[in-house]
Amino acid sequence: MLKVSVNGYGTIGKRVADVVAKHPRMELIGICKYTPDADAKIAISKKFNVFAPKENIQNFQNASGTFDEMMEKSDVVVDASPDKMGAKNKEIYAAKKKKAIFQGGEKDNIGFSFNARSNFDGAKAQEYVRVVSCNTTALCRVIKPLTERFKIDRISAILIRRGADPNDSKGSALNSVEWEANSHHAHDVNTVISDIAITSTAFKAPQTLMHVHHLTIKSGDAITKDALYDIFKNENRVLLLNTAKTTADIVEKSRDLGFVRNDLFSANLLMNTFVANGNEASFAIAVPQESIVVPEDIDALMAQAGLMSKADSMRTTDELMGLKEIKSKMENVFG
Ligand code: NAD
Repeated sequence: MLKVSVNGYGTIGKRVADVVAKHPRMELIGICKYTPDADAKIAISKKFNVFAPKENIQNFQNASGTFDEMMEKSDVVVDASPDKMGAKNKEIYAAKKKKAIFQGGEKDNIGFSFNARSNFDGAKAQEYVRVVSCNTTALCRVIKPLTERFKIDRISAILIRRGADPNDSKGSALNSVEWEANSHHAHDVNTVISDIAITSTAFKAPQTLMHVHHLTIKSGDAITKDALYDIFKNENRVLLLNTAKTTADIVEKSRDLGFVRNDLFSANLLMNTFVANGNEASFAIAVPQESIVVPEDIDALMAQAGLMSKADSMRTTDELMGLKEIKSKMENVFG
């Protein structure tokens, strides 16, 4: 059993911990919390061991021990700390000679950039692995299978990013849209899929529900709608939605279908946005930013430890998280 701890129990950390706790090849040693708040109480109610930094532990009721004790018991830590804090934490992990999985808010030089579908095997025996961001994960999940069928000449990606997560008290300006040409997302895709020509421009909009990407792809053979159905019908982590009209609609149906936290964990290909013009095709993807990277964190742990093959790990993760069922229900509702 791989002994895993989760450092940082926010949007990403709480979701990763839930899956680690039920994974057949992993034991959740515990989570590290920095504030003794409601999330700590919920973690304890789930029977998770809650650890805290030594200097802060007296503020926690029922803590299982200090951060150092958690690390001592762990083979690997999933760092789910706020953006750029992982780089500081890495010094601690290195001093303790512990492997780590980082998140997409870290710079790419922190470790091997990972997407399960694209480069699972490259993570084996790496000390440090970075699960790329929600946006980059969505792009890789869609682009990689396309490169296996088509000779892609060039991709232009326009990203409409959410301004904040639903649980955030911080966030973007309320009444304006921000933009950034040559955003880091294209470069980030190239850290995973190096041989694709891609540019990206990102807009940040005052909404919390999902990111939306619009891709324009030039390829040798025209990409058709039928080809997209064929390529993605068996990809559990890419949903083919025909009739969704708004991100609100997608989130509402996720609620109505009773998915835990409304999480879809998937890149949602919006098939009613598909337009083809000669050898150029364009379509949009909706990205549930809070959950999409969670399957990749789980696969990254298995890939790094060399405990499962790519096929076994992705199948196990998909089954544990009910990804096939989510795909089937959402594709039926939006069929
Ligand atoms: P978050 O703010 O929701 O959670 C971070 C947690 O880390 C908080 O609970 C905070 O108290 C805790 N923390 C504070 N100091 C810490 C320390 N020194 N070490 C460890 N943890 C500490 O953040 P998040 O949204 O879960 O993001 C975590 C990482 O995942 C970031 O790199 C982010 O870019 C990435 N990510 C976020 C999203 C998203 O949409 N939220 C999607 C994909 C990737």
